[in-house]
Amino acid sequence: MPPETGAIIPPGGTIGILGGGQLGRMLALAAAPLGYRTHIFAPEAELVAADVSAHVTRAAYDDKAALSAFAASVDVITYEFENVPSGTVAFLEGLKPVRPGHQALDVAQDRLAEKRFVEGLGGCTAPFRPVDSLADLEAGLAALGCPAILKTRRFGYDGKGQARIHASSDAAAALADLGGRDLILEGFVRFDAEFSIILARGPSGEERHFPACLNRHEGGILAESRVPARKLDPAHVEAATALVVRIADALGYVGVLACEFFACADGPVFNEMAPRVHNSGHWTIEGAETSQFEQHVRAICGLPLGPVGLRAPEVVMHNLLGQDIGQWPAILADPAAHLHLYGKSEAVPGRKMGHVTRLL
Ligand code: AMP
Repeated sequence: MPPETGAIIPPGGTIGILGGGQLGRMLALAAAPLGYRTHIFAPEAELVAADVSAHVTRAAYDDKAALSAFAASVDVITYEFENVPSGTVAFLEGLKPVRPGHQALDVAQDRLAEKRFVEGLGGCTAPFRPVDSLADLEAGLAALGCPAILKTRRFGYDGKGQARIHASSDAAAALADLGGRDLILEGFVRFDAEFSIILARGPSGEERHFPACLNRHEGGILAESRVPARKLDPAHVEAATALVVRIADALGYVGVLACEFFACADGPVFNEMAPRVHNSGHWTIEGAETSQFEQHVRAICGLPLGPVGLRAPEVVMHNLLGQDIGQWPAILADPAAHLHLYGKSEAVPGRKMGHVTRLL
């Protein structure tokens, strides 16, 4: 696709953000030093992004009057989570630039479309089969073997909407648990490590990516990101980065794009993409010359992208989930640690309450 030629949004403008969670909060915090205001649009009662934004609209994503008023009050619109209804973005695109646009959402919202898209660009993914019935699942298991992972095509995150199938006798129960249709079966990838590549692309097609980071998940949720990713084969990182560039170019992408990979002996295996700032990029706030949040603001406003080098020999980010938030006194006592709390009221188990980044 040709590069988008939209206008530059100079400092002083207002950035509209769909979604009001911690990613929107950190985007709003990064927009302020560049002279931008933010306007959060989201339906939830608790909007931790609204605590640090000049404007908030609390309304449903299909409330066209509220969306029109929101669009009229901002200069550019972005989103902080990928499950914004595609129709909402299509409607807003008729009113103001939405960056990244609906093409990226359409691909990222559906694991099946995403895998086919990436394969079409020459990327390697886990072997997969669409599943809409028990017969599909049994045929898929016969082809891919056990263990395998059955996932919902849409709305899965942090390991939710997934079932591991260890034997074909697990199939019927896993299928029923996940709703029986609109599923994807993935062969189990025996990876050595997981990593992500975070790239930013501006409206003119200018691109920059941060150093690859190694990620460790626990129970499907990101626990730790570590940079530099010394144990990765540099040739594999280069191949993964080249794929992310092809993805961004093919989508005419504007903003920060995060892609997660499995590091395998034969090369990188693409897992999934997030058309937004990403948890595995939180280390960039203190650890990189430009944070992923500032980089996203620069990209969607058409400003020059910032440098992406490391600020320390080693940077490690840990998520604070649920009751981990109680560790804050010890974290504040550690001179290497930078604490970020998201201001959420309830420390539900597994909920992302904050993170801590250490420069070593
Ligand atoms: P996802 O939500 O698809 O990113 O899955 C969450 C985590 O589950 C991943 O980061 C991996 O640790 C693991 N996982 C997901 N899919 C696979 C797969 N096909 N093979 C092996 N592990 C997987």
